[in-house]
This record gives sequence, C-alpha cells and structure tokens, in this order.
Amino acid sequence: MITTQPHTTSYYAASRNDLTEHPVLQGEQTADVCVIGAGFTGISTALHLAERGYKVHVVEANKVGWGASGRNGGQMIGGISGEDKMAQSLGPEGEKILWDMRWAGHQIIRERVNTYHIDCDLKNGYVDVAIKPRHLRAMQDEMDYLEKHNYPFEYTMLSAEQTRDAIGTDAYIGALQNMGNGHLHPLNLCLGEARAAVSLGVTIYEQSPVLTIEPGSKAKVVTADGSVTADFVVLAGNAYHYIEPKMRGLLLPVSSFIMATAPLPDTIVQQINPQDLAVCDPNYILEYFRLSADKRLLFGGRCNYYGSDPEIIKRHLMPRMLKIYPQLAGVPVDYGWGGTIGVTVNRVPQMGRIAPNIFYSQGYSGHGVNVTHLAGQIMAETIAGTFERFDVFANIKPVRLPGQHLFAQQMVALGMMFYKLRDKL
Ligand SMILES: Cc1cc2nc3c(=O)[nH]c(=O)nc-3n(C[C@H](O)[C@H](O)[C@H](O)COP(=O)(O)OP(=O)(O)OC[C@H]3O[C@@H](n4cnc5c(N)ncnc54)[C@H](O)[C@@H]3O)c2cc1C
Repeated sequence: MITTQPHTTSYYAASRNDLTEHPVLQGEQTADVCVIGAGFTGISTALHLAERGYKVHVVEANKVGWGASGRNGGQMIGGISGEDKMAQSLGPEGEKILWDMRWAGHQIIRERVNTYHIDCDLKNGYVDVAIKPRHLRAMQDEMDYLEKHNYPFEYTMLSAEQTRDAIGTDAYIGALQNMGNGHLHPLNLCLGEARAAVSLGVTIYEQSPVLTIEPGSKAKVVTADGSVTADFVVLAGNAYHYIEPKMRGLLLPVSSFIMATAPLPDTIVQQINPQDLAVCDPNYILEYFRLSADKRLLFGGRCNYYGSDPEIIKRHLMPRMLKIYPQLAGVPVDYGWGGTIGVTVNRVPQMGRIAPNIFYSQGYSGHGVNVTHLAGQIMAETIAGTFERFDVFANIKPVRLPGQHLFAQQMVALGMMFYKLRDKL
C-alpha cells in the first residue's frame, strides 16, 4: 500500500500561510482535464486551464506543494536549462522564441502574485557568482546576450570587491547581478496558486496517490477510492512520479538539501546581504543561498546523503556555509530538509505525450521555479490546440537511461562524480 505524507520538516512548511485541507478523491468523477501532481507544474497547468474555462481536477498523492515545489531554494532563476541544445534544435529563427520563453515563467509568477494577491515574499534581485575566470567569461557572454535583446531589468557585472560589498564574502572573484531574477517563498506561492485555481472552479484532491491510468479517448485516472475520467490527462509528478512505466529512465532523481538558520541580527544582515539578493554559484554541484523574509539564511547544496534527518543535513551543510560566512559560526540552525530534483541527461526539460491525450512535463534540471510556470502555460495552450511551443521541447529527443529505476542512486552517484570533476576544471 502507498502511504501519503505530510509536508517535510522545512522552514517553508513551518511558515506556510494557508492550511487548507483538500478532500481525498472518492467515487467516479469527470473533468475536461485531470492533472496528476499538485506542485508548480500541476497547479500552474490547472490555473492556466481554469483561466481558459476548462473543468479541471488535480489529484495529488500527498499535499499541495509537498514535492520539490514546496521545498526548493526559492531562487527565481532566469533561463531554461539546456538552452544551448534548444538553440541548436531551433536554428537561428528560433532565437526570439527562446528569448521570450526564458523569462515567461517570471512574468507569469509576477502576474499571478498581483492578480490573485499571493503573499509569497516575492523579491527582485539575484547574483550569479564566479569562482573561476571561465565563470566570468560566461557571465560576460550572458551580459552581451541581455544587452542584445534590450533586457528591461537592471544588470551589472561586479568586481571581487563589489561582490564582497553586495554579499559580504571573499569567496568569489566576481558576479553578475540581475535585478530581473529574484526569490520567493515557494510553498506559499504554490498554495496561493492552488487557492486561485480553486476560486476559478478547479477541484484539488490530496492524499490520493494515482495507481493507474487507463488510456482511451477518455482516460481514467484511478486511485484507491475513486477515479477521474477526463478528455486529457497531464502528468506533473516530476522526480516524484512513480506510476507510468513508459516514462522510466527519463529523469535522474538528484537530492538537494537546505538548512535555515535562526533569524539573524540586523548587523549581520547588513554585512552579508544588505540588498537581499539570492545567490547561486556556477558549479554543477552547486551551492545557493538567500535570506528569508524573517532574515534567516537559507543555505542549500548537494550532499552525499539520501535520507531526511534534519540533524545530519545540518552537519553536512554547516561547514560549507561557514567557508563562505565564517562570521556565522555559532548561529543556531532551526531547520534542515531535502528534496529531489528531476535532472535530464541533456538538461533540456521534457514535454511530451505517452498517448494522444496524455501529456507530461518534467525535468527542469534545477530551474523549475521559473520553467514550471512556463510549462503550465504550454500544457494549457497545447490542450487548447496550439502546439508551437510544446513542439520546441517535444522535438528534442530525451536521453533514456536503461534500467535507471533499478540503479537510480548508483547512476546519480556516478553522475555526481563526473560533475564534481568538471567543477574542478
Ligand atoms: C532542494 C531543492 C532545491 C531547489 N531549488 C530550486 C531553486 O532555488 N530554483 C529553481 O528554479 N528550482 C529549484 N529546484 C527545482 C524545483 O523545485 C523543481 O523543478 C520544481 O518544483 C518541480 O515542480 P513539479 O511540480 O514539476 O514537481 P513537484 O513539485 O515535485 O511536484 C510533483 C508532485 O506530484 C505528486 N505525485 C507524484 N506521483 C504521483 C501520483 N502517482 N499520484 C498523485 N500525485 C503524484 C507528488 O506528490 C508531488 O507533490 C529545487 C529542487 C529541490 C528539491
């Protein structure tokens, strides 16, 4: 039997501002569209569809935002992972489509926060930091790209000294500050979007793991106590998805962990992050951090650990945080949690279908806050009959790992060793 789970031990779950409980799916229900999974992809899809007038049911195994969407770093990162592959596939005519899609997720988030009055601590301001000269070169290329397209937000390269002034550490040799990216409380965003979706008629079921999907001109999504029969189904389970055998081996489930300190005194805040910027390093095995609204440092990264014990997570992350901010020695840590990121081998997000009316979207490879929102819009327009942007993703053949469901952890460990070596170059 599959058991359902409450939210994880995160700062986000402890500070969520919506405690709505949705019912368990029972009996035989019908809808135009049934969405499986209530993370950003699922909720975003449902909300876009509801705005277009569709009757939508969302079926979630645990709670709204229980997966990566309610656990992540909250960094609103620009761009789509795997853009170089996408640019190759699209050719020169595709440059404008790609540029527009790069920022579409941010735009959707901002509009939704305004339209539906979602309280999720949304802030502009972000720095990509450089550890090696090649990172600075990549940032200069990004600057040129932004300039070429008249990027409407402020952006600037920071020297090592300016980086120290901005984020209070000597750990980096420079940075690219981009005020069009930002950060937010991801669980409160997801819950707010779910609330908006319900206000437009969407029905959400929680604690209702989907066990099978019976394909057909009307597909039937079946749980232990009920079913939803729908014209279309959207699979939005990402790295937590476990039902559809046709999708095995498409994603590497990579664990990432975050800890949250106690709220920091204002003197420290002014020293380490006076402009309240989100910070992300350029490594494959990356570190990311930012302040929460109540001025905790939320510090995240990967560890060689597969469990969920907050004490072990804190022990792994603490030395890494102190390397960047030695002045935080002795600061208490209140929370530690982890989650699974769906990473694709070629880094390109995957959109496709496993039957004419059963679609999926997944594998944002660490850029999910932004790209899930784009994906929801694309899923909705695809169901409404416009395939142009869906095809941009669907035309890039995903790399499938044979037997990956049996050897997932070993594959991830091997992949991480490879990327660790690349980071050292
Ligand atoms: C620790 C961590 C830090 C991250 N940091 C960032 C960041 O700072 N910035 C960024 O852009 N991205 C980040 N990401 C990635 C980002 O969070 C994800 O890309 C994004 O949230 C994926 O959203 P999703 O809705 O596709 O999947 P999820 O949020 O994982 O949701 C999938 C849902 O599907 C449900 N589900 C699965 N199977 C079934 C089933 N059979 N029946 C019913 N329901 C089912 C699950 O219970 C889950 O709730 C991070 C991820 C993690 C884990």
